[in-house]
Amino acid sequence: MARFSLGSSDETGVRAAERHVRGQDGRERVGGNREAGRGFVGRVSKGAAHGGRHASNTRERAARTRRAQDLVCQFIEHLAELAIIAVDPRAAILSWNQGAERDTGFTAAEMIGEPMTRLYTPQDLANNAPARDLEQAMSVGHFETAAWRMRKDGSQYWARVVVTPLYEQDHALAGFGVVVQDLTTQRDMERQQYEHALQLSARDAARAEAERRANDLSDLVQQISAQATELDRRRIEADSANRTKSDFLAVMSHELLTPLNAIGGYASLLAMGLRGPLTPEQRGDVDRIRGSQLHLIGLINDLLNLSRIEAGHVPFSVDDVVVSDVVREVTDTMAPQVLARHLVEERVECTDGVVARADRAKVEQILLNLLSNAVKYTPPGGHLTWTCSAVGDRVRLTIRDTGRGIPADRLADIFEPFVQVGRGFARPDEGAGLGLAISRDLARAMGGDLTVESAPSVGSAFTLDLPRAR
Ligand code: ADP
Repeated sequence: MARFSLGSSDETGVRAAERHVRGQDGRERVGGNREAGRGFVGRVSKGAAHGGRHASNTRERAARTRRAQDLVCQFIEHLAELAIIAVDPRAAILSWNQGAERDTGFTAAEMIGEPMTRLYTPQDLANNAPARDLEQAMSVGHFETAAWRMRKDGSQYWARVVVTPLYEQDHALAGFGVVVQDLTTQRDMERQQYEHALQLSARDAARAEAERRANDLSDLVQQISAQATELDRRRIEADSANRTKSDFLAVMSHELLTPLNAIGGYASLLAMGLRGPLTPEQRGDVDRIRGSQLHLIGLINDLLNLSRIEAGHVPFSVDDVVVSDVVREVTDTMAPQVLARHLVEERVECTDGVVARADRAKVEQILLNLLSNAVKYTPPGGHLTWTCSAVGDRVRLTIRDTGRGIPADRLADIFEPFVQVGRGFARPDEGAGLGLAISRDLARAMGGDLTVESAPSVGSAFTLDLPRAR
């Protein structure tokens, strides 16, 4: 490698370099790599090297060569697209073409005689880059790099720099040709292309993500539609099972009602003495037969009601219903039982102003069921309280008792069919656990609800909620 220092006074760095140039084969030799280093001057002067036998020919050739050199020099001088600079062996600028003026802003007058180092950035100068560039050029006959260069206004530009050592005919180092190509535009274009490519890849990624989500969504839609199909299948199955149950109940109840009515009819005949006088014991037996027969007919009617409501076969005749009227009617009906149990019954705020929008007969059926439960499950001497209210677009009617109450864990169950809490099923004066199920179904079918609050040994409060009449 040539050791090169810029501007050493008596013996130039380049001369020192000429004496210590190591070729690519690793051997050190004096004079550097001159063949590789031939620049445009060398090429232009090639014809002169051949010489001629004839003296006039030689003169002509020499003249042509000089002319060609002049032309090339002029061409380079005026070339504006590329900065071409010639420097002497100590890197002082010898020529400065229009391209160099255009790229750097320095004029030829400003730069001729100045050191080439003025084009280097402070950082490159600190790293001794100028000397290294020239040493490398001499060592291999050509040096090429991409680096930042300085403009007159202090700004920097990205450039491709090619340094070529130039030699005299006697092989002495004449200087360097430096070509500097401003890559700012190319760099901007590359950056734009890069950003464009980034945008494209971001767009592709977004599209891929959107496709993935669309696929997920379509999977989800498929799953949901499969579930909907399955639900539909089950609903059809359930409907069909329900129809079968209703048919069964209709047939069975008809089959049961006919003999039950016959039992009732014949028991009545006996009770009326049409088959002869009855002893008191016989009369008691006939009464029990009649009681059981009525109980069974009640059960069968409840079952029929329930299946009719569930199948949506119960007609509703909706009208304005004065709630206190229905309460009065129901309490009148149940008065004997209330009296028999020594219960105290009272009404709070059940004025005529509380009007529901409902089917009066169904409301009556519900209240009758609630009151008969309250009577059944409240010990003698207990209290029954009716409370009515109209709030917003709702009407509420509550019947509160001081009976045995219902455990909290059974509260939700009592509205299910056939659920009874803490009672034997077979007692003839008891129902089949259908009353509340039927009542809540009826309430809901009218746009209302039936709810309960209860505490064991304290009592229960059943609330019927209905739409309010306008
Ligand atoms: P049932 O014909 O058995 O009375 P219901 O559906 O009317 O059927 O009631 C279901 C169960 O709810 C009853 O068996 C009883 O355990 C409970 N129940 C209903 N009302 C009351 C009440 N006022 N107090 C205590 N328990 C009640």
